[in-house]
Amino acid sequence: MEDTKASKVKGTILLIEDDPAIRRMLNIAFQDTGLKAVEAETGNDGIKAVIHHKPDLVLLDIGLPDISGLEVVQNVRGWSKVPIIVLSANGQEGLKVQCLEQGADDYVTKPFGVAELMARIRVVLRREISAKSPSESPVFVAGNLRVDLSAREVYLGSERIRLTPLEYKLLTTLIKHAGKIVTHRQLLAEVWGPDYTEESQYLRLYIGYLRKKLSDGAACIVNEPGVGYRLTVPEAVAE
Ligand code: CA
Repeated sequence: MEDTKASKVKGTILLIEDDPAIRRMLNIAFQDTGLKAVEAETGNDGIKAVIHHKPDLVLLDIGLPDISGLEVVQNVRGWSKVPIIVLSANGQEGLKVQCLEQGADDYVTKPFGVAELMARIRVVLRREISAKSPSESPVFVAGNLRVDLSAREVYLGSERIRLTPLEYKLLTTLIKHAGKIVTHRQLLAEVWGPDYTEESQYLRLYIGYLRKKLSDGAACIVNEPGVGYRLTVPEAVAE
């Protein structure tokens, strides 16, 4: 049974996209939601629209007629924390990863389904709301995985799981960015240090160790091939 009230989110979405067909499709999709859409067709107009409309979330096409979506991310991240979801086409993998490294929150690849995009939007907006709430819990729970961040203890059901310091740091780094894709370079820099950003074999190895120790509790660690990893957050948000 789905509680439609709980799954509704409100806010203003800024769509920076030069393709009128995609703008039309998304406008129709937004009509049934609590979301209000405003539009910009170029990168420079998009930046102005972020200032003018103060959107709750930006949907940003990478291939724009004036400046690239990457340049928009770099500009906007200089002065705003507004969540950004990048719309990328095939062949834009490199730019997409750079957008994430420059602070974009997520991406969807064209052609995308409206339902998938809406789910991503809801996750990002919910994360914004919970990040702003003062009662942030020091315990992360996903399925039968429970991580007590203050006691630095990890449980699978009632069983205590022993992680090495590196495994624990990798897990808590993913938890810190829960719901968001963390690129390989970002994870390597945060867990191993800035000199290790090219050592992706370390990451693969330690993700493997974590998955093995956490067994089915590792289901929340999702591989985004060629990009990075994402810790999925449970849909139900405790009130
Ligand atoms: Ca385009």
